[in-house]
Amino acid sequence: MRLLLMGPPGAGKGTQATTIAARFGIPAISTGDIFRANVAQRTDLGVLADSYMNAGEYVPDEVTNAMVADRLADGDCADGFLLDGYPRTPQQVDELDAILDRTGVGLDAVVLLEAEIDELVRRILLRAQEENRADDTESVVRRRLEVYTTETAPLAAAYDVRGLLATVDGLGSVEEVAERILAALAAASMAVE
Ligand code: ADP
Repeated sequence: MRLLLMGPPGAGKGTQATTIAARFGIPAISTGDIFRANVAQRTDLGVLADSYMNAGEYVPDEVTNAMVADRLADGDCADGFLLDGYPRTPQQVDELDAILDRTGVGLDAVVLLEAEIDELVRRILLRAQEENRADDTESVVRRRLEVYTTETAPLAAAYDVRGLLATVDGLGSVEEVAERILAALAAASMAVE
């Protein structure tokens, strides 16, 4: 099972990624989490990523692509994975295609989690208080939503053309949304069972 989870900041991707990945016994890989872990440990990658994240901008593609290529080469990804927050640019889509081509495998589905902008802002600012995320101040949040809308939202269309896209309403309880995602995957004959 090779899945992508797409959607705007605050749509609940991280929470759902964990649930869905556990359901299929595959690792959930969040580029945002990997960057944050590197920032916390002050690695070279973290120092570089930090300035972009704090401004609500994307980390440069060559940096992100190399990091993901590395992670997907790990043994636990051999039978599948769920990528959360990657790809976010056309160059990242191309890189992921190239990585999968090299190993002779393809994606099973791309889940797009949707939510209203006002709800997204509300959720992110709430989470900022709870988790003390440095990249979650109001102006940065606005910028992240803007960057998502112009750069990443159009990518869903590319996966739709390939017949891989399942769009799911992200409004509701964690359990409700998880059920919706599993139902969407099953409806598209993508579920394992
Ligand atoms: P959110 O989904 O709430 O925007 P993430 O945790 O996925 O948050 O990402 C936080 C930040 O990490 C992004 O705003 C961006 O700076 C960086 N980042 C994460 N994934 C990518 C990616 N695929 N390409 C470039 N930058 C990324």
